[in-house]
Amino acid sequence: MNDDAFSDSQAFRDEMIETQCRQRGVRDARVLSAMRTVPREIFVPAGAADRAYEDCALPLALDQTISQPFMVARMTELLQLGGADTVLEIGTGSGYQTAILARLAKHVFTIEWHATLMEAAAERLARLRIPNVTFRCGDGSLGWPEHAPYGGIIVTAGGPTVPAALSEQLADPGRLVMPVGPVEDQTLVLVVRRDAELKRSDVLKCRFVKLLGAAGWRA
Ligand code: SAH
Repeated sequence: MNDDAFSDSQAFRDEMIETQCRQRGVRDARVLSAMRTVPREIFVPAGAADRAYEDCALPLALDQTISQPFMVARMTELLQLGGADTVLEIGTGSGYQTAILARLAKHVFTIEWHATLMEAAAERLARLRIPNVTFRCGDGSLGWPEHAPYGGIIVTAGGPTVPAALSEQLADPGRLVMPVGPVEDQTLVLVVRRDAELKRSDVLKCRFVKLLGAAGWRA
């Protein structure tokens, strides 16, 4: 798709941001404008481009999903990223959330369990000329200690608890968002580290695909 085609979808994007995000309470102007610049249609599977701006998660390969636009906006807003922050993302999936994070942070380190998904996401970000992302295939439930600490950590798959390695790799100050709870019924949890204290709060009910790995569910 060329740049004209991206601008053709601008009206869909503006509508998505207004009705699905802003009117539901996402008010952070930096987050909304980052979402305005990322064409969602290149992140959905071939043949589903006409559904890219629908108000729902959509299926990816290997039984995974691209998150609902509202959920991407809300989770990103909760991180309160500044341009100097380094972010760790677990569950690259399509790379859509990664692209939004990259617009707001200095650098994004992103980990995906499935190599084929990681490769497709890396290609999409290269095509959009988004340079400040490093990809890794592996178990993100252990974090990525080499680049820690992170000002923001986002997990886009649901696990039984917040993995200890991720709390350890959170900067002070730093913010982590993750769906936690049983496979069928999770709560989006926000963990804030400030002045050497960790505070946890529940944000909303949600349902994500399983976080696999050492601190996730059994594969
Ligand atoms: N943010 C993505 C969501 C993808 S779904 C998007 O909107 O496209 C969640 C992803 O987490 C899946 O791609 C799945 O393969 C990945 N995943 C599950 N467990 C993981 C783990 N332990 N480490 C890294 N990725 C994991």
